[in-house]
Amino acid sequence: MKNEYLLLTPGPLSTTESVREAMLKDWCTWDDEYNKDIVEVIRHKLTKLATNHDGYTSVLMQGSGTASVEATIGSALGKHDKLLVVDNGAYGARMAQIADCLNIANLRIAPGEVQQPDLQQLEDILKTDQAISHVAIVHCETTTGMLNPIEKVATLAKQYGKVVILDAMSSFGGIPMDIGDLQIDFMISSANKCIQGVPGFGFVIAKQTELEKCQGQARSLSLDLYDQWHCMHTNHGKWRFTSPTHTVRAFYQALIELEQEGGISRRHQRYNRNQQTLVDGMISLGFEPLLPTELHSPIITSFYAPQQDEFEFKTFYELLKQQGFVIYPGKVSHADCFRIGNIGDVHPSDIERLIVAVQNAMYWEQK
Ligand SMILES: *Cc1c(COP(=O)(O)O)cnc(C)c1O
Repeated sequence: MKNEYLLLTPGPLSTTESVREAMLKDWCTWDDEYNKDIVEVIRHKLTKLATNHDGYTSVLMQGSGTASVEATIGSALGKHDKLLVVDNGAYGARMAQIADCLNIANLRIAPGEVQQPDLQQLEDILKTDQAISHVAIVHCETTTGMLNPIEKVATLAKQYGKVVILDAMSSFGGIPMDIGDLQIDFMISSANKCIQGVPGFGFVIAKQTELEKCQGQARSLSLDLYDQWHCMHTNHGKWRFTSPTHTVRAFYQALIELEQEGGISRRHQRYNRNQQTLVDGMISLGFEPLLPTELHSPIITSFYAPQQDEFEFKTFYELLKQQGFVIYPGKVSHADCFRIGNIGDVHPSDIERLIVAVQNAMYWEQK
């Protein structure tokens, strides 16, 4: 079955037909052919994709990506711990919100949505606030498409002996990185972003010694990261509670297709070409990106809405959808923007067709 339109969104995104086809069979969660041959293979592949260092392990968690972020924050921080959150967008803010909700002490560095964190300010806080035990940051802040300087932030955090939590939800699988080199303790992502699977679960790739310290700390039964890992690890791929079997099987197929594409570096190149084609094309039509080029990620790009009175996002959206493209509304608070994603089964030729569709939509909207 073909899709009627291409999702140019940050996920769920357009998947291949073969990924969707992989969902057509039902699985028994007691069988080795599911636990050993699918779940365990996925866990192993994920850890390998994330790092070449030993001592890392992975755990899959039901729910959308936020459930995995909540499981990590709610399990990794003990009663007397404190979280420092870099908040320059909705997803950074969400991590602080999770900590608030779980009664975990936290402090935010909030430079605004179009700024990277001030490293001097970060260091001053790490120096003076002895209660801080963990530092959390988003890699690609999907709110704007900004790439955060995770290497510098993690290095600083480690210099002061902190545990580092990385929300790489929208970047893992699309941007090369080695979380062992970066000294990341917990990295979180989900099935329906750059690995190009369908929604239904998230995953955490963690330093095993840090994960083991989470035992007994969770503030939730179902979002207990340690228990989830322990069950999966000791029972060879068995999930604690009902596993999203079809989604997991589709994800397995998506991982194979990532390998067939040539791995993360090749996928990164494709996303980069998509983004370059998008930005060049949109600028040629008179649109202006929200961020300066050096802060762009290849994942998603925010554009200012045109200032003309005739422009209305809803109409623009519908006119594009009629032509086979779905874009995303903006999420920044201070400016009227919309966003266009480059991830998923999307190729430079699709973006070229999109630019023509945008030109048509602008013309029709003026009439
Ligand atoms: C998509 C995303 C999430 C998780 O969102 P869900 O809607 O819960 O899947 C978290 N952080 C970032 C940076 C994201 O892009």
